[in-house]
Amino acid sequence: MTETPDVIVIGGGQAGLAAGYYLRRAALDFLILDAGTGPGGAWRHGWPSLRLFSPAGYSSLPGWPMPARAQGGYPTRDEVIDYLTRYEARYELPVQRPAAVEAVLPGDGALLVRTATREFRAKAVISATGTWSAPFTPDYPGQSLFRGAQVHSARYAGPDAFAGQRVLVVGGGNSGAQILSEVSMVAETTWVTEREPLFLPDDVDGRVLFERATARLRGGAGDEPVGGIGDIVMVPPVVEARARGVLASVRPFARMTEHGVVWPDGRETGVDAIIWCTGFRPALAHLAELGVLEADGRVSVRGYQSVKEPRLWLTGYGDWCGPGSATLIGSARVARELVPQLQAQLIRPA
Ligand code: FAD
Repeated sequence: MTETPDVIVIGGGQAGLAAGYYLRRAALDFLILDAGTGPGGAWRHGWPSLRLFSPAGYSSLPGWPMPARAQGGYPTRDEVIDYLTRYEARYELPVQRPAAVEAVLPGDGALLVRTATREFRAKAVISATGTWSAPFTPDYPGQSLFRGAQVHSARYAGPDAFAGQRVLVVGGGNSGAQILSEVSMVAETTWVTEREPLFLPDDVDGRVLFERATARLRGGAGDEPVGGIGDIVMVPPVVEARARGVLASVRPFARMTEHGVVWPDGRETGVDAIIWCTGFRPALAHLAELGVLEADGRVSVRGYQSVKEPRLWLTGYGDWCGPGSATLIGSARVARELVPQLQAQLIRPA
């Protein structure tokens, strides 16, 4: 049997929940379909020691601020999962899981949304599937020859597996810095980054990243702030790693071999394991049959709305669908603007 809510939100991570909050306030008939087996979105898969780079006061969804930490500082992964779990219960958000959407298809007067077992028709769809399920690893010549271990940060589970090994940590963002910091306690590490990493001053916390993203959007002529969401926030483990002298980085190797990597000057280094902290791409495979995916793997949007399919809305994937939209506070801002626009469209269809 086909179910017919007005709006379907695909993805029940922070972006989907923020949208749900405003859909609830607008008294719209909606469902959130989430592939996960429990609340928390991508945070359920983060490594145990993962810390937010934004303080609690800058990590809140609409309506209910993230509780400040008793000890101050940056919230942990488990605190975020707990917050999101309680958030969806508090606002009685209609999240169904596990419900992985396989395809969204154009239909007469509605979009068809299919999971493996169910079918829905909705007047509008908000895609909020995040990026975690689409980790990105760059191609290096010889990669298939390498016999050591390779793990992406999306599946990194802590430093113990690397004890006593020669490990390359590849990637110069917050994931790379935080993972390097703890793996270097138990292993011989080399940090490989495309360019010199950008460290924020110690007394500047993640707030500044959001302020910069907003300022960039407003386009202050001539005085655009440098840096972006990827700059490294000096959370305590990273400060401690700097004191140990392990934060130095080198530029990328030229190719991989069976047992290591070869640098541009021809030197070869033996390597037991590589941890790829090289980011993610938008997880949009469920939109493939809708004909909206561009060559760069994104959807062309005007604001948060697909240009090719105006019944489709997007949030949470990065700055291209709202400044800072892949962060907690950014997803809240996007949802606050997106839902009234979507509601207006339901009243006056294009
Ligand atoms: P997700 O949390 O990935 O949620 C998407 C949900 O959609 C998941 O539950 C998934 O199961 C589901 N899904 C996927 N595909 C389908 C499908 N086809 N059908 C149905 N459901 C589907 N942000 C901050 O604000 N502050 C920070 O300090 C911060 N630190 C970070 C540190 C690291 C190391 C990383 C990696 C990220 C950090 N972020 C931070 C960024 C951001 O908050 C997360 O990436 C966030 O989880 C993105 O939320 P989302 O809701 O868009 O996606």
